[in-house]
Amino acid sequence: MAKISINLATGSFQKEEIIVGIDLGTTNSLVAFINPDKNPQVINDAGKGILIPSVVYFNGQNEAVVGNEAKEYLTTDPSNTIFSVKRLLGRSYKDVAEHKDIFSYKIIDDDSDALVKIHAGDRFYTPIELSGEILKELKARAEHALKTPVNRAVITVPAYFNDSQRQATRDAGKLAGLDVMRIVNEPTAASLAYGIGLDPSQQKTIAVYDLGGGTFDVSILQIQNGIFEVLATNGNTYLGGDDFDRAILNYWLEKNNLDVAEVAQNNILMQTLRLQAEAAKKALSTQNLYNEQVGDIWCTLDKQTFEALISSKVEETITACKNALKDADLSVSDIDEVILVGGSTRTPYVKQAVENFFGKKPQDNINPDEVVALGAAIQADVLAGNRSDILLLDVTPLSLGIETMGGLMDVIIARNSKVPTKAGRQYTTSIDGQVNMKISVYQGERDLVRENRKLAEFDLKGIPAMPAGLPKVDINFLLNADGILTVQAIELRSGVKQEIEITPSYGLSDDTVEKMLLDSIEHAKSDVEQRMLIEARSEGEQLVYTAEGFIKKHAEHLTEAEIAETVSYIEALKTALATHEKDTILKKADDLNEFTRPFAERVMDAAISTAMKGKKIE
Ligand code: ADP
Ligand code: MG
Repeated sequence: MAKISINLATGSFQKEEIIVGIDLGTTNSLVAFINPDKNPQVINDAGKGILIPSVVYFNGQNEAVVGNEAKEYLTTDPSNTIFSVKRLLGRSYKDVAEHKDIFSYKIIDDDSDALVKIHAGDRFYTPIELSGEILKELKARAEHALKTPVNRAVITVPAYFNDSQRQATRDAGKLAGLDVMRIVNEPTAASLAYGIGLDPSQQKTIAVYDLGGGTFDVSILQIQNGIFEVLATNGNTYLGGDDFDRAILNYWLEKNNLDVAEVAQNNILMQTLRLQAEAAKKALSTQNLYNEQVGDIWCTLDKQTFEALISSKVEETITACKNALKDADLSVSDIDEVILVGGSTRTPYVKQAVENFFGKKPQDNINPDEVVALGAAIQADVLAGNRSDILLLDVTPLSLGIETMGGLMDVIIARNSKVPTKAGRQYTTSIDGQVNMKISVYQGERDLVRENRKLAEFDLKGIPAMPAGLPKVDINFLLNADGILTVQAIELRSGVKQEIEITPSYGLSDDTVEKMLLDSIEHAKSDVEQRMLIEARSEGEQLVYTAEGFIKKHAEHLTEAEIAETVSYIEALKTALATHEKDTILKKADDLNEFTRPFAERVMDAAISTAMKGKKIE
């Protein structure tokens, strides 16, 4: 049923509700919409600015403050001021541990696969909740500026976001009360903003170079017949303008003969210098010298020194461009146009490096920090049915597959496959009379699943008892345009079937999101502990099962002593499981994993040398 609403700002009737486009950035976020003249336009609510810093501050009453106002607390109350939350979205502590130094607030230090939480005030927050706070602010500003309710949105994500991160972004939208119509890759949105491909007769191959505050990605898109196809993506989710700021900061500390470790103790001073470094960097986009003082610390920087400081980082982005071209099977001369995205492309040295590599002047006439939101608004317009001539295709950034015997990764949908896509393969059982089959879905590029990310696991139950190798189980993967995966398993002889839609393990179901809204956050700490225990237990139990199966199955690859020792590690883990102590369980599971890791590799080598037919799932 179509709703009729009136835009109070313009007095005009709108047949459909406005669907806004949102660039939920690591550093800055913003909203755009299609104005009554049918042009994309960024929202500047009450002149408060277009870019809203993606910063959330929690005051003494645990109330969230978002944007510029929150950014000010980076210096005065850094431990309660959360920035760069996008880097934590859909991430486990293990994923971010390597980079934890960059955060001045407390990320719960739990070296596990569990979702990270952030401590601020006297509460714990998930990155989904924090991104939800940012989206709530964006929604409120859009509603205030447009004078109409805003309930639907298109949200962009970096091309490198995996399924968990995309799902987490959706969940954040949901928490903010938004119906997220589509998750769109940022480079796709940027090319839309430049209008490339809007004319169906146009055929072009373009490169989108996006250097923001925290992430870098380059995408090669092919556009023909109004169809956008991402041929390849490459980049680094830990490379951006923040790195430039850090390089400047370290340079100043050195120049002032200050000990980094000592200054690092002083959170407030560190943040003040960080902001000063950013100011210097921005100034050097238009001038040759920056000269300021913080207390008795001299903050002086000339353009040439700045360029020397960042040259290796910029070089890294160029290497990524090379790799993307290689993945796309193209050379520089095949690229018709280069688009610059992200505030950091305002640095002349970056622009020049891109121009030198591609051998042509990049497009930069649209503001690089607005271009993604503007494109998202155009995508929203497409979804509203106003531009039915455009179709959008994206690629999946990481391979998707299932676990097969011995903990091997069997890829079903390869990295860089175009989405939507469908693929399947046939498997069989490994045990006589086996009636259940555990299907574990993973994402990643490594040969052993334990090195990859587990997305989900389910049992295909009720397979009629047959000798091993007889059942035929088809496993089909369907990846939709949002990057959401549906896995279906069907035993062909009996027709037994099971299907799941992957809410990746860190994502949240609709019910959970609702529960999050209602549950008193006071219980967050005990909830986290309980969940961690449950996760540790199921991990431990699964490990016992896998290890026991493994030594039975692969006895010929192991010595008697190795088997005996594995059994004692398994027993130790079983004892730990009975204690219900998370850390003990994790420790024993880890010991067992460590001890048996070489075996798995040994078996993998054996498996590779014996070309297997009809792969088996334990
Ligand atoms: P994100 O996509 O990560 O949210 P943005 O596209 O908003 O980020 O870019 C933010 C980055 O751009 C920050 O590192 C900021 O310091 C940098 N930036 C903004 N303006 C300039 C400028 N004039 N010169 C150089 N860097 C800039
Ligand atoms: Mg961005």
